[in-house]
Amino acid sequence: MRRNKGILVVLQLLAIVIALVGFYIFLSPRDFRVTTDESPRLSTSSSSMAVTSSSSSSNKEETDALPDVSPNDWELVLVNRDYAFNNVVPELGYVEGIPVDQRIVEATTQFMAAVHALDADPLQRLYSGYRSVEEQAALFQTRVAELVAGGTSEEEATTIVSQTVLPAGHSEHHTGLAIDIMRYSDVAKEIAAMAPEHGFILRYTKGAEHITGVSEENWHYRYVGVASAKYMTEHQLTLEEYLDLLRSKNR
Ligand SMILES: [Zn+2]
Repeated sequence: MRRNKGILVVLQLLAIVIALVGFYIFLSPRDFRVTTDESPRLSTSSSSMAVTSSSSSSNKEETDALPDVSPNDWELVLVNRDYAFNNVVPELGYVEGIPVDQRIVEATTQFMAAVHALDADPLQRLYSGYRSVEEQAALFQTRVAELVAGGTSEEEATTIVSQTVLPAGHSEHHTGLAIDIMRYSDVAKEIAAMAPEHGFILRYTKGAEHITGVSEENWHYRYVGVASAKYMTEHQLTLEEYLDLLRSKNR
């Protein structure tokens, strides 16, 4: 009997508490509204926290330490399968007889001096720089013709060549900011390691084919400026990914 009484008292107390809480909510709609306003904010922060914790912590550092550059800077111009060359032919300068955008003559000269210091073989040299749209079209056709002469069908040859040679109007060489370094010896890795110090990145890396649209090329370097080159190399970002990151930061 005493027990039942005790339970009754507890139930009565509970009813009073529930009534008081309900009464409080009913009487203070403003306070109640504040709570509902906060909840989306709370859920946003908790979901962003989940994103941060599920992805690597370096993701945060990536945006924190981004170089102070604009995705519209001339040295970050994007030319790939999706983005055609803007047809602004650069003012040209020459390094080892190869034309490049005159704004990167000094960087290219220093980079090549470092390459020669690494490997004095005369075959380890600057092989290609600025290329006109017409030259790219001719290069593409030459490669296709070589395969066709070897017995490949023209259609198949075009497919094979397009994996390494971009169609006219879509080559980075049109910008004058891309260079090819002949890799005669096996110092390709050492060259790639020091390239960022001179403002260059290895543009087409293994595993990034689905982003760059080009299979691995350990001879094709692209000038992007020292700060960007170091950042991209350190974080293993393609130019496409880096530009996305810069745009999301500037948004
Ligand atoms: Zn190239």
